[in-house]
Amino acid sequence: MIDLHMHLNGSLSTQVILKIAREENVSLPTYDEKELQKLISVPKNNQSLNDYLKCTAVPRLVTQTEKGIENAVYYLLEELAEQGLIYTEIRFAPQRHRDNGLTQEQVVLSAIKGVKKSRIKASLILCCMRGDNLFEENLETVNLAEKYLNKGVGGLDLAGAEAKFKTIDYKDLFDIASKKNIPFTIHAGEADGAKSVSDAIDFGARRIGHGIRSIEDDEVISKLIKNNVYLEICPSSNLQTRAVEGIEQYPFRKLLEKGVKLTVNTDNKNISDTTLIEEFKILEDNFGLTRDEKKELLYNSLDAAFLIESEKEELRKILDERL
Ligand SMILES: [Zn+2]
Repeated sequence: MIDLHMHLNGSLSTQVILKIAREENVSLPTYDEKELQKLISVPKNNQSLNDYLKCTAVPRLVTQTEKGIENAVYYLLEELAEQGLIYTEIRFAPQRHRDNGLTQEQVVLSAIKGVKKSRIKASLILCCMRGDNLFEENLETVNLAEKYLNKGVGGLDLAGAEAKFKTIDYKDLFDIASKKNIPFTIHAGEADGAKSVSDAIDFGARRIGHGIRSIEDDEVISKLIKNNVYLEICPSSNLQTRAVEGIEQYPFRKLLEKGVKLTVNTDNKNISDTTLIEEFKILEDNFGLTRDEKKELLYNSLDAAFLIESEKEELRKILDERL
């Protein structure tokens, strides 16, 4: 299996957080596993984006040192290997790991070390952040993606409050990324509507994080198909952040029937307390996802991966054997 949309902090398990806290002497609000779990995950029927986002506060504490970042990436990849993943793209915003004075470059280099130690293949996606006055920080992130592209880094992303800080405002930044030929995905069509997706496609995004609200506009659907842009859907997360009202309104089948290329992902596996297997199960139980369709979705993830062709071919062989 392959997961292309996974945030580092939101995917760290209680065990990993406790382990790094011990190793790095980080003080946590609690050392009780059950209590910690409550602080880093939301109930299945969560109805608030705010509660969802608050869950990254504790994992963030253990990813502010070089060793902490390296091991967070490494331990997470070990867990994913156990779950049967053959490839994953882990994303994080380097600028959000500077609480102890690390530079963005130190953050990226530490995460690359974690990837190199892993027994499964992985790439990093560096997130630029939506927010006031972040152009310089974001530009630094773009430059780092260029410097370490295909050396541990696969591409870029744009994350943060989509409804408040519109996608169109990041045109200059992604024009620069485009000129540098850095592949990127953009979180769009989650908290904001189809226009946000349309803007991201115009910038040259190869994939869209979530993008489920593309369903609100047929022209945007056509544009996705025409430009061969893949959506990274994350069912549990989309339901818990109220990007859709409920599972009945989840446009999975509609998007599939219209011909949009979809990939299935976890987003923040520990906030949602889920796994990629469980995300596929949601689609099987609620939308009658067939075995062939599941295969197609997994090959989509391979095709959409931010890897060079020869690397994809290696993974294709593993996928062919397993599916
Ligand atoms: Zn996300």
